[in-house]
Amino acid sequence: MAVNKEQYIEITNALQHKAILVAVSKTKPAEDIQALYNLGQRHFGENYVQELVAKQPQLPADIHWHFIGHLQSNKVKQIAPFVFLIHGVDSLKLLQEIDKQAKKLDKNIQVLLQVHIAKEETKFGFSENELDDLFNTAGNELSALQNIQIKGLMGMASFTQDTALIAAEFSYLKSLFDKYAALPINERGETLPFEYLSMGMSSDYQLALQYSSTMVRIGSLLFGERKQE
Ligand SMILES: *Cc1c(COP(=O)(O)O)cnc(C)c1O
Repeated sequence: MAVNKEQYIEITNALQHKAILVAVSKTKPAEDIQALYNLGQRHFGENYVQELVAKQPQLPADIHWHFIGHLQSNKVKQIAPFVFLIHGVDSLKLLQEIDKQAKKLDKNIQVLLQVHIAKEETKFGFSENELDDLFNTAGNELSALQNIQIKGLMGMASFTQDTALIAAEFSYLKSLFDKYAALPINERGETLPFEYLSMGMSSDYQLALQYSSTMVRIGSLLFGERKQE
């Protein structure tokens, strides 16, 4: 079976409307996405622009597409017309490019800032210092971006069996979420429209929920293991 219905029911029960399930469908065919859609799922996540733009037209128009991979600036325009939320934004340059493409389309694009919380060097994302710089030093550049909405933070915990370490990383990300959600971004004292804390995958989503995740990104539990990426 292409889609694990029992797991889908178990996960949606665990979320209890406190968190949104993003079904991660990278490397999986459109038929698998359609099968999960038919069970009621509407949020899907993809990591590769080429793959996403190939699948999107084959599937129902009311799917909310999440881009969860590492996005290159020169590819933003391909997903800008339809993307619901871009999770992995990790530079001011990328924010500026997303804003530019959104402006051309006369729309707003929602983004999450990726934070580097894991021990591994290979993972992408801002450090806390870089986020402080972004909101303080680069505040003027940021407020010039009228066509993006920074809706929250995203992070990936270390790839480890050490649940205490994963818990510490999720707890840290939640504390950053609370910190930047409360930060005034202009002299009127307005704050960012924070709503989503994207953390938790197949192996650690239950732990992520304990640390107030509002969006989990789950692939292999729903669609089976991936052969290649
Ligand atoms: C692939 C991927 C996931 C899903 O991983 P699973 O372990 O299959 O649930 C979640 N988030 C990101 C950023 C990914 O690249």
